[in-house]
Amino acid sequence: TDQRAYNFSAGPAVLPVSVLEEVRDELVCLPGARSSLLEMSHRDKVFVDILHDAENSIRSLLNISDDYSVLFLQGGAALQFSMIPANLLRGTEKSAAYIQTGTWGKKAIAEAKKEGAVNIVYDAADSNFNHVPSAEDYSVPADSAYLYYCNNETIQGVQFPSEPVCPDSVPLICDASSDFMHRPLDISKYGMVYACAQKNAGPAGVTVVVIRKDLLEIGSASLPGYLQYKNHAEADSEWNTPPTFAIWVLGKVARWLTNDIGGLEAMEKLNREKAGLLYNAIDSSNGFYTGHAKPECRSLMNATFVLPNDDLQSKFLSEAADNGLVALKGHRSVGGIRASIYNAMPKEGAQALADFMTAFASKNG
Ligand code: PMP
Repeated sequence: TDQRAYNFSAGPAVLPVSVLEEVRDELVCLPGARSSLLEMSHRDKVFVDILHDAENSIRSLLNISDDYSVLFLQGGAALQFSMIPANLLRGTEKSAAYIQTGTWGKKAIAEAKKEGAVNIVYDAADSNFNHVPSAEDYSVPADSAYLYYCNNETIQGVQFPSEPVCPDSVPLICDASSDFMHRPLDISKYGMVYACAQKNAGPAGVTVVVIRKDLLEIGSASLPGYLQYKNHAEADSEWNTPPTFAIWVLGKVARWLTNDIGGLEAMEKLNREKAGLLYNAIDSSNGFYTGHAKPECRSLMNATFVLPNDDLQSKFLSEAADNGLVALKGHRSVGGIRASIYNAMPKEGAQALADFMTAFASKNG
């Protein structure tokens, strides 16, 4: 672990060291199981218990009631861009409402258009996606198939401070890929919340779908079997072989959140402290750093900012790496720097980056 840098990758991203160590220790032979988890049938009771434990940890962290199924799927978050409209829009007379606040919402919309009518009720593209709308900026027709939005746009670093307003008759659907379990969430306000694991919840390979049970009935049986939510719910995520390794690690991360962090309220407090360190370094730099997101919707997970010019940006990245701060280059569509500080980034990492930013600005400003 001495060789580990503070890793600000947007995903796959930092995992708790204690989880990695546990995985290392248990990988060759799972205690009591006489084989590695990697070599075990997904129908083996040992794995089925692991899957149920992972589900139960997520249910208890997010307080998810029996009205919802929790599914472990493959195909990444991107497959959900298609599965959602394939199940809930295709073949209906309705249109689906979308709020577009960044790259991932935009990609979801492109896929939904293949399945049916899409109504973009708010589009932040003109501002290069630097904000989220307020309630009075959009309205959602009460007969929409659903309202879809991305809570945290990973590339732009804009995050909804609270869920959008949505008529009671319309299921609210959230892409929470880059901020899943970063704070408590009232699941009962949602029809569905989903997240790929590889940012805030585990390794790549599994996507968690929390879906209200009445929505399982809408998808047509003529859909390809894998694409129908109901099949996965009825088979307890074992309709086909699930990604066993990723589910195993996801379960360990959920247990770490519960036991080591103390739950999602404690996680939120820590995340606010970490993000506060970085945004404070931006705001106190006398304009040396410019944040991309408007202050009221700055992401607690991905802090995006630019420096005065490209040369300084390159210098920043290389000196940061020399100081053990890596994977800070922003996405090409926004440029600049992106510091992803997911749940598993320790406060010391955010502090080290904030200190580096302040020293760099005073040397080069
Ligand atoms: N939504 C969001 C918010 C994301 O950050 C990402 C991942 N980069 C995706 C969707 C797509 O995830 P995947 O690569 O697992 O399909």
